Amino acid sequence: MSKNTQPSGANDLDAVIIGAGFSGLYQLHCLRDQLGLRARVLEAGHGVGGTWFWNRYPGARCDSESHSYMYYFSKELVDEWEWSERYPQQPEILRYLNYVADRFALRSDIQLNTRVESARFEPGQQRWIVTTQQGDRFTARFLITAVGCLSSANIPNIPGLSEFSGKWVHTGQWPHEGVDFSGQRVGVIGTGSTGIQAIPVIAEQAAHLTVFQRTANYSIPARNAPLTTEFKQYAKQNSEEIRHVMNSNTNAHPFRIAQRQAAQTAAAQRQAIYEAAWQKGGLQFRATFDDLLLDEAANSTAADFIRKKIRATVSDPVKADILSDIDHPFAAKRPPIDSFYFETYNRSNVDLIDLRATPIERITERGIQTSTGEVVLDVIVFATGFDAMTGSLLKIQIEGKDGRTLKDEWRSGPRTYLGLQTPGFPNLFTITGPGSPSVLCNLPPAIEQHVNWITACIDHMRRHDLRQIEASEDASAAWVEQVNAAANATLLAKVKHSWYLGANVPGKPQVFMPYAGGFARYIDICNQVVANGYKGFQLSR
Ligand code: NAP
Repeated sequence: MSKNTQPSGANDLDAVIIGAGFSGLYQLHCLRDQLGLRARVLEAGHGVGGTWFWNRYPGARCDSESHSYMYYFSKELVDEWEWSERYPQQPEILRYLNYVADRFALRSDIQLNTRVESARFEPGQQRWIVTTQQGDRFTARFLITAVGCLSSANIPNIPGLSEFSGKWVHTGQWPHEGVDFSGQRVGVIGTGSTGIQAIPVIAEQAAHLTVFQRTANYSIPARNAPLTTEFKQYAKQNSEEIRHVMNSNTNAHPFRIAQRQAAQTAAAQRQAIYEAAWQKGGLQFRATFDDLLLDEAANSTAADFIRKKIRATVSDPVKADILSDIDHPFAAKRPPIDSFYFETYNRSNVDLIDLRATPIERITERGIQTSTGEVVLDVIVFATGFDAMTGSLLKIQIEGKDGRTLKDEWRSGPRTYLGLQTPGFPNLFTITGPGSPSVLCNLPPAIEQHVNWITACIDHMRRHDLRQIEASEDASAAWVEQVNAAANATLLAKVKHSWYLGANVPGKPQVFMPYAGGFARYIDICNQVVANGYKGFQLSR
């Protein structure tokens, strides 16, 4: 980078970026091609793609609409790439990210099969020393984590798993050769977004499928379909407007939340609005009214509508009861969307077990033992989610300027300023880290905003001959309060068993992690911080 960071060898860099998913690829492009820095991406997988490299389970597809689940930084890229369906499938997204890697000649600065083990800040040199499991050592002025929010698999510690004689897999670590379910008795544990996508597809392939449901879930039909030529043209011709809409609303999706309240709308009209949104499909259902996440009475109108739909779809009344007995407000946990999920329970080869009534006791050699009996299985699929937001970061031994580790600093929950930095860890940036809107957003726009902010910050430092940036304690403490206040103003914080709070991982501190104040407001705050001379950060030579 600047004259005072003269690299002395191939592994002495301006920046190390960890992860080659959406975040890492764009961050490399910005640092290398816009700022001219020496940057390298270190990636554990044998290919680029991050989440979309690992999550290859049947039915894996994005819940964001394809024309919003892409980069917008390059108009040429927007014009060149063509999505085939309303919601892109995992292989298509992976093809897109590989296309981006080639299109911007990124591969030469991406080191695959390289898992970062530790990173230590050396205060004297003001550099990070990064080591990998493969034995490499790098030094860099900046360390940027692009490890994804949902990348550390959560495999529940159910006794007996090692005794199981069949095959077991976690959806987030899906074998690249695939899993052949034909003729198999399959058990799926988990009915979050992943399980809800995988269950209908596995049911079609397997001889028999048993779903083990702990918490019933809402889901809205995705209504996936091939994109028409007209829509593809519309998306390209209106890309600036689409980008503007995403960056000026709450969740970074390409649609606005209707400015009306369910609680103030007459029942018949409300019903018609929900019905139209149900027919249209997708996450937009959540945007029908602007009080759904603020007011329990308003929320229950949507929740009741969906429960009735479940009952109308599932013909077996016992299954319908189990599926519609939902214990949390609609969209207070991440709302799934589906392709024929509830319909799948009408198939004769699909059983449903309510783990609230009959919990899993152990895994046996032959299958899963619940309190009422043993279910014999050939394959167990864990659709049990992730150690979200902090899991992948804390697997790396990250040591700050006083020798304190990030794990210690975050013992009671992540403490960041804007989700970008943590006090005590100079020149470490986290893309879509805890404390940023991240998982509450359609992620690509959130990633672009973070990468652009970090790039501009590093450019500012370079132009002013600054070597070190660190979030202040005061600013971080105030930001953590803002993150808590934003969550507490919504129904999101009312759900005690949610991965937003870390409640899905035993022993994890229960702190609401993403910033729920809205993407547009967050962008504004980040811009104000810059306009006020990087207020809350300490910059030094
Ligand atoms: P998740 O939402 O955390 O769901 C995990 C499921 O496993 C829940 O039903 C959970 O039940 C169950 N479970 C966990 N441990 C269990 C245990 N010991 N015994 C029984 N059941 C257990 O995970 P996910 O479905 O993988 O989704 C995570 C996030 O990834 C989503 O919320 C979404 O943000 C993202 N995602 C996105 C897409 C997309 O865009 N297409 C697709 C998939 C995932 P409880 O609810 O009772 O804990």
